[in-house]
Amino acid sequence: MKLLVVEDETKTGDYLRQGLSEAGFVVDLARNGLDGHHLAMTGEYDLIVLDVMLPDVDGWRILRALRDSARTVPVLFLTARSSVEDRVKGLELGADDYLVKPFAFTELLARVRTLLRRGRDAAAPEQLQVADLVVDLARHRAMRAGQRINLSSKEFALLELLVRRRGEVLPRSVIASQVWDMNFDSDTNVIDVAIRRLRAKVDDAFSPKLIHTVRGMGYVLDVGDEG
Ligand code: CA
Repeated sequence: MKLLVVEDETKTGDYLRQGLSEAGFVVDLARNGLDGHHLAMTGEYDLIVLDVMLPDVDGWRILRALRDSARTVPVLFLTARSSVEDRVKGLELGADDYLVKPFAFTELLARVRTLLRRGRDAAAPEQLQVADLVVDLARHRAMRAGQRINLSSKEFALLELLVRRRGEVLPRSVIASQVWDMNFDSDTNVIDVAIRRLRAKVDDAFSPKLIHTVRGMGYVLDVGDEG
């Protein structure tokens, strides 16, 4: 699960990034509104924690831009003011929840988890299936032809990404940022190795092959022609 935190206060930003990382999330931190706006509009996040009071592009503008472009990513906004108008404004603009500063980290974490669960319940199925491959998202398990496949947590994350975006060629840079929290310049050999391992488990003993290499572009999971 990948989160974006937009927070200009250095201490709060560091604290949120550290806490959320320790809770198992991949976290991008934007320290100003401009970066936050850019990442929110171009990145792929499961949830955004958005401070409202930012010195340049404020949280309202970021939220409005997201919803105007039909991005449905859950947004938890942070407000220093406890005024009713502020809260109403945020919710009217399409925020999913809010917290008034100062807040306890445990409360933020609970809200984040609730929003992520709600999103999953509403929008996504519990299981994804391609041919005889079944990915059980709730139990973090994968089966092929009725046989349980043992995957590490990274392998499962990689398989989940490929299955969710079935038929779409995923460049290594996208896989790196979604599964490993690495940026484009990182060593993408890690991805090739992980794909090889995943293939050995998911495809080697089965037919049809599902994970395909698209030369010079990346990887795609689908039933179809060998890449
Ligand atoms: Ca602020």
